[in-house]
Amino acid sequence: MQAVQQLAQELGIELRFNSPVAGIEVEAGRVSAVRTEAGERIACSRVVCNADPSAVYTRLIEPRARHKHSDRAVAKRKQSMSLFVVYFATKKRFDALAHHSIILGPRYRELLKDIFQRRVLAEDFSLYLHAPLRTDRSLAPDHTDLFYALSPVPNQLSGLDWEGLAPDYQARILAFLDREHLPGLKENLLTAFSVDPRYFENALRSCQGAGFGLEPRLLQSAYFRYHNRSEDVEGLFFVGAGVHPGAGLPGVLSSAKVLEKLIDKPERPLSLPEAKKTLNNRLNNNARSREAGL
Ligand SMILES: Cc1cc2nc3c(=O)[nH]c(=O)nc-3n(C[C@H](O)[C@H](O)[C@H](O)COP(=O)(O)OP(=O)(O)OC[C@H]3O[C@@H](n4cnc5c(N)ncnc54)[C@H](O)[C@@H]3O)c2cc1C
Repeated sequence: MQAVQQLAQELGIELRFNSPVAGIEVEAGRVSAVRTEAGERIACSRVVCNADPSAVYTRLIEPRARHKHSDRAVAKRKQSMSLFVVYFATKKRFDALAHHSIILGPRYRELLKDIFQRRVLAEDFSLYLHAPLRTDRSLAPDHTDLFYALSPVPNQLSGLDWEGLAPDYQARILAFLDREHLPGLKENLLTAFSVDPRYFENALRSCQGAGFGLEPRLLQSAYFRYHNRSEDVEGLFFVGAGVHPGAGLPGVLSSAKVLEKLIDKPERPLSLPEAKKTLNNRLNNNARSREAGL
């Protein structure tokens, strides 16, 4: 992040921190200004936005300026799951562990149903355990170790009371790791804290506290994902996990590269054959990745 910040500053970009945007003003179908929560109005003819498009359309742009992305249309979209992430440090090293561990719980299909359909917090969990010191020892003092464990959980449509649930859920994850994967964790724990769907909803301001924008199902992928150029508001562009091509750092950075090519092009929607070609390319790439076992 520091490198990105430095590059931006070298390019003459002014960065403003802790200035949430409260609204994007639209005049005659075109972006005219950005308003901050502090009450500042910044006049502009273009906005490049990397916040979650579902939230931007429904919370920052007046309904009368939106035809395609009405509140109703956005509500019909399926948002991805949310995450519970425990970050913790220990006073001893667990060198046997790899940088990335995927720990599959006892159930697969039923756990997915709990997360996406029943929207309940399951008793069991599947975890991604991240041990970055295996790759970069400079991240923590000698003889200590640090980790995060990520558990996919239902997004905020569930109505789960995380205020009440979070402490116990964190304790259950740490106890499970102590028992099954990191023996001695309990006695060697230096510190631990966690983030839950409230963080994604309130700090990152994602719709329904989703961890990865829209669910990457077929009809929400490629051409069907939010476009990098807004169809509703001229001069409004998007990058980031919520738009084409999708979540994850490679996807997010690629969205910026897409935008670089797009931003100065005259506005024109893709024709149907072009859209089909884009979709076919995506499907072929997926098939090739599957064949290569990726
Ligand atoms: C625990 C975890 C592990 C992950 N691991 C990996 C991994 O190993 N590899 C990988 O590729 N990806 C990983 N990802 C996914 C990756 O981190 C995300 O896809 C990526 O960070 C999304 O970037 P973004 O810029 O689109 O969104 P964000 O990083 O969410 O940035 C959006 C920013 O916009 C701000 N914002 C929103 N609304 C407003 C507003 N109104 N005004 C001002 N600011 C606003 C938010 O506060 C936020 O800072 C992981 C995600 C998590 C949570």
